Amino acid sequence: DEEKQKHWFIGSIDCGTTSSRFLIFDGEGQPVASHQIEFTNLFPESGWHEHDPEELATTVQECIDKATEKFFELGHKKKDIRTIGITNQRETTICWDTNTGKPLYNAIVWPDTRTTAIVRELKKRKGADELPQKCGLPLSTYPSSVKFLWLYENVEAVKQAYDEGRCSFGTVDSWLIYKLNGGKDAGVHVTDTTNASRTMFMNLHTLQYDDELLDFFELDRKHITLPKIAPSSDKEAFGKLAFGLLKDVTITGCLGDQSAALVGQCGFTPGMAKNTYGTGCFLLYNVGEKPVISKYGLLATVAYDFGSGRKPVYALEGSIAVAGSGVKFLMNNMGFIKHSSKITELAETVKDNGGVVFVTAFSGLFAPYWIDDAKGTLFGITQHTQRGHIARATLEATCYQTKAILDAMEKDSGHKLEGLAVDGGMSTSNLAMQTQADIIQIPVDRPSMRETTALGAAIGAGFAVGVWKEFDELKEINRENRTLFIPQIDQKKSAALFKKWEQAVEMSRGWVL
Ligand code: ADP
Repeated sequence: DEEKQKHWFIGSIDCGTTSSRFLIFDGEGQPVASHQIEFTNLFPESGWHEHDPEELATTVQECIDKATEKFFELGHKKKDIRTIGITNQRETTICWDTNTGKPLYNAIVWPDTRTTAIVRELKKRKGADELPQKCGLPLSTYPSSVKFLWLYENVEAVKQAYDEGRCSFGTVDSWLIYKLNGGKDAGVHVTDTTNASRTMFMNLHTLQYDDELLDFFELDRKHITLPKIAPSSDKEAFGKLAFGLLKDVTITGCLGDQSAALVGQCGFTPGMAKNTYGTGCFLLYNVGEKPVISKYGLLATVAYDFGSGRKPVYALEGSIAVAGSGVKFLMNNMGFIKHSSKITELAETVKDNGGVVFVTAFSGLFAPYWIDDAKGTLFGITQHTQRGHIARATLEATCYQTKAILDAMEKDSGHKLEGLAVDGGMSTSNLAMQTQADIIQIPVDRPSMRETTALGAAIGAGFAVGVWKEFDELKEINRENRTLFIPQIDQKKSAALFKKWEQAVEMSRGWVL
């Protein structure tokens, strides 16, 4: 087996919100070569957030080639790479011209709130309340459907392409797979069930597009070309690379980033949960082979779907819009720090939050609150307040929202969670993770190799080509050198902190939009 592990590797494309990456994993789930490029985040107006779709594609291609060069320098060969997986920021919406393969507008990125007015109108439509039963998601600014409606209503090129039946729609996975396969000439237009479950166009029970859902949004499939939905792990659907050093290597795994992180944490058993602290923060809780439609403000989503006769597995999800982006806000807008990693040092200049609570509702509050008109609001400022207090309050905001999500999950599922696996950029902060354990009063478990999202996509890809056949074979993957954060404050103190947060949330409501 050891011999086998030495000679095969799996590549993983990870296109997040702030950067593109390509990692090459060995059979033990360790990256042996990687390359990362930050791309431009455009904020053209307040609440708007865009990416240039061409830049997403070119940075991915460059990462593939740069990482592969490093891989070759280690003495490996192209044929050692068995296959490639892809994972991506979800919901982000791209439209391109079916005839030319050119984007019709920038990508509208998932936390963008330009759709607030559209959402308000849609909520009045007949059938709005039944949407979660069908697609797992309530109306919010966040899914691709409402982003597409904005494009149709506001971008002449999109409207024209739609009216003339040459409007291709895709999330970032479909766009990248299309481009990597050669764009308009190669013609694969495909997505997987985890990504499709973030559009509001797919029925969560049938895993197919649903005419009732499309009718709700008044969309006609003769005019909008939707990607074909494939399982997350598939030998043929995602085609192969058309360019570069890994030309002709197949893509056989595709998962939205949060699904991929659950897979990368090996959350294969119902009741397991992971929380990823990236730009935003996303908690996924494996509920097994039947979707659970939340009564307490969570989303229902496809967790992963490995095909070949395996049943799809669903998750309850809690999404927090602002996590690492709160840290970036302190860095870029407030000039508190020079690098994200310095946030912990700054927070440790004070012993506690000094009574400061920061509701980081930069794009409203997501799960489980869903308050569209909340705005970022800082409470408890006194003469005594230092930057350190605000730094702490910023890290704590994500921890409190995670606690609110876990409480909702407990009510929906009837089970109390026993441990929480964590990853993502902000999980690097020991202070943030200790605070998290303190606030949820359960242990927080962090792997040393934190590229779990990329690993999850590699696992999906590996399953399609028979590298692994059973989830049991992954038991040992990425288990070494994990850090366990045990709650260090008592229940009473924890509850008092949380109460203050809940009070602050109530007060952050009702800003005039
Ligand atoms: P994404 O996939 O959404 O691009 P990542 O998982 O790469 O996100 O995490 C990046 C985010 O994590 C950034 O917003 C950054 O501010 C934050 N971050 C990175 N390192 C640290 C750190 N050491 N402490 C706190 N936050 C961090």
